[in-house]
Amino acid sequence: MENIKPFDYLIVGSGLFGATVAYRAWQAGKRCLVVDRRQHTGGNVHQEQMSGIAVHTYGPHIFHTSNTQVWQFVTSLVKMNRFINSPLANFHGKLYHLPFNMHTFRQMWGVTTADEARSIIESQRAEIIARLNGREPQNLEEQALCLVGEDIYRTLIKEYTEKQWGRPCSKLPAFIIRRLPVRYTFDNNYFNDIYQGIPEEGYNTLINKLLQGAEVILGVDYLHAKKQLDSLAHKVVYTGSLDEYFGFSLGHLEYRTVRFEHKTLDIPDFQHNAVVNYTSSDVPWTRIIEHKHFTLFGEQVKKVPQTVITHEYSTEWRSGLEPFYPLNNERNSQLFKQYEQLAINETNVIFGGRLAEYTYYDMDKVIEKALQIPL
Ligand code: UDP
Repeated sequence: MENIKPFDYLIVGSGLFGATVAYRAWQAGKRCLVVDRRQHTGGNVHQEQMSGIAVHTYGPHIFHTSNTQVWQFVTSLVKMNRFINSPLANFHGKLYHLPFNMHTFRQMWGVTTADEARSIIESQRAEIIARLNGREPQNLEEQALCLVGEDIYRTLIKEYTEKQWGRPCSKLPAFIIRRLPVRYTFDNNYFNDIYQGIPEEGYNTLINKLLQGAEVILGVDYLHAKKQLDSLAHKVVYTGSLDEYFGFSLGHLEYRTVRFEHKTLDIPDFQHNAVVNYTSSDVPWTRIIEHKHFTLFGEQVKKVPQTVITHEYSTEWRSGLEPFYPLNNERNSQLFKQYEQLAINETNVIFGGRLAEYTYYDMDKVIEKALQIPL
């Protein structure tokens, strides 16, 4: 007799990957059970209200994409606001615009034309270009020097990156810094994508809509009750860490984690911008987030008498902490490949998302993947 199970899919983790799969499965008439070990859904996009302000509990999440299908999917569920990320960098008290653009170059060197800026950067790149002698940059330091030269590397990249990743720039992969645009125009938009914004009603609304057809159980650690939970569904979608899935049998993958210190201040505006990065090593936090600036613009800011700010501290992941950033260096990439070999044998399990794929994904890429997997 065919084994009758109450669910088609058991989805482990209710972040963007799991929730998007749950939505698609529900739309296809499938029954889903979603379990999450946290006491809330949404993974790291979860938000909480503090003093009437929507706080990004696990760091700022700014949705941006150039994928029209992904944008249409998300905006079919929630309306996006007009937020454009334009972070500032504070280096020893002096403010610079990010990403690296004509505003930054003017603040750094007093130049006002792209030709002047290019010529300074070219002269500062000369040494690294000679050193590379035709080969590709092998690490973040070489890549950064190649892109923007010595001054910007020393002021806005080196110490911030070493604080963020806990390793010298010469030991980090080059691709991390290629996330940031370099522009010879006065354009402070941190992203090059066509579409950008934050859900007007917050990410929790997006997640609730994605999970509307699923049964959800919170506070459940799948790996502790694996056998019992597996028996409830025909297929498993696992979005947690791959090394943990296999009991760390081949060793630990490394991650960075972030400690968030949320504070309410009795003033209407603290830093006049959503994100300020602290790029010098003498300041222990990497950045300060002021949450109201994600949703309130211009005069609206002062109408709310309080403000909530978050100091972010980056540290090495260890057991019991949340893994945030995969550390995609050579050692970890090799180890991950070995875990992937083990995963091939788990024919009943779909692995996906930032943790299971050990990839430094932006949100749109997670959704894109979740929209593609065959169900
Ligand atoms: N970065 C930097 N200075 C900055 C901001 C970013 O050097 O002021 C580097 C840093 O290495 C960081 C990488 O650029 O890890 C990618 O930054 P992004 O803002 O994409 O990081 P996320 O928002 O994912 O933390």
